[in-house]
Amino acid sequence: MKKLGEILASHQPFSEIVIGNAAIARAMLEAGVRVVTSYPGSPTPEIAEALNALPKESQPPYFEFSVNEKVATEVAVGASVNGHLSCTFFKSVGLNVAADTFVQLGLMELIGGMVILLGDDPGANSSQNEQDNRHYARLAYIPVFEPANAQEAYEMFKEAAALSQKRRMPVIVRLTTHVCHAKAKVRFQGWQPRPLDNTPRFDVKNGPYIPISASVFPLKRRALEKLSDVAAYADASSFNAMTDFQNGRRGVITMGAPFLSLMDALEDVTAKPDILKLGIIHPLAKEKTLAFLRQHEEVKILEELDDVLEREIKALAFEHGLPVRIIGKKDIDDWLGEYTPDKVAQVLYKTWPDLLAKDEAKGAPVASRAPRPPQLCPGCGHRSAFYAVKQALKESDITVADIGCHTLGFLPPHQMGQILLCMGHSSATASGLSLFNQERRVVAFLGDSTFFHAGIPGIINAVFNRHNLLLIIMENGTTAMTGHQDHPGVGKNANGATDAIPLRRVLDALGVTNIREVDAYQQSKLRSLVEEALLESGFKVIIAKHPCMLKLTKEMRRRGQFRGRRVTIAPTCDQQHACIAAFACPTFQRTADRQVSAHQDLCIGDGSCLQTCPTHAILAPSDSAAKGGASHD
Ligand code: SF4
Ligand code: SF4
Repeated sequence: MKKLGEILASHQPFSEIVIGNAAIARAMLEAGVRVVTSYPGSPTPEIAEALNALPKESQPPYFEFSVNEKVATEVAVGASVNGHLSCTFFKSVGLNVAADTFVQLGLMELIGGMVILLGDDPGANSSQNEQDNRHYARLAYIPVFEPANAQEAYEMFKEAAALSQKRRMPVIVRLTTHVCHAKAKVRFQGWQPRPLDNTPRFDVKNGPYIPISASVFPLKRRALEKLSDVAAYADASSFNAMTDFQNGRRGVITMGAPFLSLMDALEDVTAKPDILKLGIIHPLAKEKTLAFLRQHEEVKILEELDDVLEREIKALAFEHGLPVRIIGKKDIDDWLGEYTPDKVAQVLYKTWPDLLAKDEAKGAPVASRAPRPPQLCPGCGHRSAFYAVKQALKESDITVADIGCHTLGFLPPHQMGQILLCMGHSSATASGLSLFNQERRVVAFLGDSTFFHAGIPGIINAVFNRHNLLLIIMENGTTAMTGHQDHPGVGKNANGATDAIPLRRVLDALGVTNIREVDAYQQSKLRSLVEEALLESGFKVIIAKHPCMLKLTKEMRRRGQFRGRRVTIAPTCDQQHACIAAFACPTFQRTADRQVSAHQDLCIGDGSCLQTCPTHAILAPSDSAAKGGASHD
């Protein structure tokens, strides 16, 4: 059976069932993208996996996971102004990190072209908010394509790349979780690799590239002119198309995944409203939209998240004095969550109660599935660290979480982390919490990948301004939450071996003088280090280190070195269940007669739970299954 990379590199036309992220990797090959950059974040990391799977002879683009989204954007800009078609991709909130650079892009003459793939996350499946990045596109004068499925993701990427090259401007392809991850059959065209051209074409005559003072105005004018050209292009584009159900009374304007949900919700409806589906959502295809508005008495704007199109379309209708009734969001619920078919049915029912039968509009009960709260993996070093740290803290102490697997420490029973803002915020937020605060000690957490991403400035600030807090860096040697991508501390990057930048050495160089290191499985030692550090004033750091056990055991399994072992429970077990109540390894199961056992398939036998049992009833496997598993202090 052919591997995905070989399939995606085929020179012949073919059809294949793939997720949207894989379809995009093929589109990159066909479009001739030379440089791709990213910072890992759901829902986009599978684009990197698909790119890495491409065989060398297919001339895959240069790819890197940059240290954060801002840097990724800048590397892609550098490649583009040197004449190479480039692309950068990251998750929704990644654009906040890249924003300082991103808002300048419209002013730049990107001679090679540049596509920005944004993975927005309606439903906040794996993000700290539901931000709608269409606002940013408007702010920065950048056009936006929005595909509804994998086929469109493939086609729109190529179109966006061609538009970007032609107009020398950045173009966004806005993806959402459903489009990235849903599998669909995609028809791919044939393709032949082009001869590579490595000529460095950067030329200041293409600029100016220094937007200072008076030069800003002509650059802004040029950006607006380009956007106005794209508006005309949007009116002519077949990506903005009407589905005509011969309904002169009602119409719906929608885009992306909500369009698919709408078609689903309308399946059994006889008097279906006409639909204008927008594939290019910024700038608005004004002529097409006006024509649609003129043809209908009532038009519903069906858009996930914010009322971006609603406002623009209402203003357009007002400007042209159209008598059409435009129906936007009805209540706050319409602003929340993914527009699944059930949700769309509910939204339509509020708009046109006669359109759908009431039962259809109710949709399937949303809470019909048993809730599955996220949790740390069996054997995770973070669990061990949280267990130990909690013992060293008082009820009144304040704990600050950061982004990464360790964020899950906020859940019971550990409840380590009471406030979370964004990547790398913890040291600075904790610094603020420590001001005028003699009574309540402040402890911040930070993962190692996030340390390199955005954690360093907060640490410098804490040193510089002599803040009084304890920062615990949870070092697991990977970017675990998004699929185990390497970070600068590891000694590997997306292309192979590189120089490791040890976290400890960076801390030393930043001027942090109070540093302790411990293995996160050494719970008594970690507990006493925390107690000791909290007696001292100033900025203290503890590095609680343990490899990500999911990654480690996966690698061991791949090498055939993992032998299934689990801890056993001795008869001395007094059935107080501290292992479940206070440590909460998901491996432990309790039977109706209060017996405890470790699940045969889940337990990795690392023994990090051993110290949690007051009666020492948890017994280590005779030989440790997962090396790196320290069973006792
Ligand atoms: S992926 Fe690794 S770091 Fe994340 S919860 Fe699992 S073991 Fe812990
Ligand atoms: S040894 Fe098994 S039960 Fe104990 S922490 Fe590890 S995975 Fe959980």
